Amino acid sequence: MKSEEFWSNFLDVLNSKLNGISFNTWFKDSQLIEYDEQNIIINVGSPYKKKYINDFYADLMEEVLEIVTGKNINYELITDEELNNLSKQKENVEEEVKDIPKYKDTNSNLLQEYTFNNFVVGDSNRLAQMSALAVAEQPGKLYNPLFLYGKSGLGKTHLMHAIGNYIKENSNKSVLYVSSETFINDFTQINKKGEDNLDIIKHFKEKYRNVDVLMIDDIQFLRGADKTQDEFFNTFNFLHDKGKQIIISSDSSPNDMKFLEDRLRTRFSWGLPVNINPPDYDLKLNILKNKIMGHDVSSLIKAEVLEYIANNCESDVRHLEGAINRLYAVTAIYSPKEINLEFAQENLKDYFGTSMYITNNVLKIQKAVADYFDLTIENLKSKRRVANINNARQIAMYICKMTTEETIERIGLEFNRDHATVIHACDKISEEMKKNEELRRQIKEIKEQILN
Ligand code: ADP
Ligand code: MG
Repeated sequence: MKSEEFWSNFLDVLNSKLNGISFNTWFKDSQLIEYDEQNIIINVGSPYKKKYINDFYADLMEEVLEIVTGKNINYELITDEELNNLSKQKENVEEEVKDIPKYKDTNSNLLQEYTFNNFVVGDSNRLAQMSALAVAEQPGKLYNPLFLYGKSGLGKTHLMHAIGNYIKENSNKSVLYVSSETFINDFTQINKKGEDNLDIIKHFKEKYRNVDVLMIDDIQFLRGADKTQDEFFNTFNFLHDKGKQIIISSDSSPNDMKFLEDRLRTRFSWGLPVNINPPDYDLKLNILKNKIMGHDVSSLIKAEVLEYIANNCESDVRHLEGAINRLYAVTAIYSPKEINLEFAQENLKDYFGTSMYITNNVLKIQKAVADYFDLTIENLKSKRRVANINNARQIAMYICKMTTEETIERIGLEFNRDHATVIHACDKISEEMKKNEELRRQIKEIKEQILN
């Protein structure tokens, strides 16, 4: 069994034996450091986690290891700090052995949890995902550099790691992922110690030039670091000339990064600049579904809850994840029988902030919807069933349900309808929103109207 396979099986089994919160808290972020027939080393991060797992989960760990490997294998838990010390020891050993580049095959800094498999694709990120996969399949051959740009929280870092993990898995090419802060820090080390410090310069060059794929994340932080930009230019040319793949991310397009030297901006446009746009409603919903998949409370979560989150979250995937995590946390505390809209509203309203959360304001919504469709509030409350009025009424009920604290009964009263009618209206609108972009746009515009 390959170590990746072992590790994913191990986590799967562990996950199935624990409730989601425990798994996420204690094990989700751990890393497999070493895996062979006799020995397994797992980095769990903090000393606190290490102690806790050793104290409370030792039996479970043994049981799961036996299930996965069929054997009784020793394991050891270590912390980030211990891992650091381990790799320092390794480096020292390597230093003694001359002529071996120190960074060869050392840490790529890749986060294994970010893969193509768990990157959900929609209209707004399809081009980025496809280009990323193409580069992962053909590093150095297609788009060089690949330049991913877009606002924060839209998946740039995720895609970069996905590319790196894919390449590592499918070839023996070496990959290095760094944030631009790391690049700047490494570079300033050279200046600090003085130009005569050949060792550090050599170290730097080995690290950044001895790779097949170099990824630098959030390049906007090179702003103001002119000397580092020079060095980046040199590194870029060196790698590019050799047909090595370069992948860069930024919060804005190459053209908009006026602070970059022209020659760098030109280089960046050589390859393929691709934009990641904020997710639309559909993609938000799919990402949410994907995030809860496999989690053991996911069967408790009603569809309306995901719709509520997708409707109220900003268009930022990090924000979506935050909502889900919060939902898990309160679920662990209150153990509800089901996670329905009411429970979600009650527990997420602070998270979404009052800006999106309209309290007791059916009237305001009715007015906004009526204005939007050139109708009157009386029309909405009337018994008339003309198609356009009916449609507007249903939209208004839907927005009321999604954005106010009112009960279904109360909303019904405000529209002179019974609660079954409100439920029917909300179901119908939410169903239709899945396929009707025009409707989604209308609802979005009405909501903006309400907030102004
Ligand atoms: P950025 O680097 O653009 O600021 P990240 O890559 O760090 O954004 O993404 C923020 C979070 O959202 C990460 O946890 C990432 O896994 C998740 N994420 C973003 N886009 C997607 C997607 N399309 N599918 C699944 N998860 C996503
Ligand atoms: Mg990022």
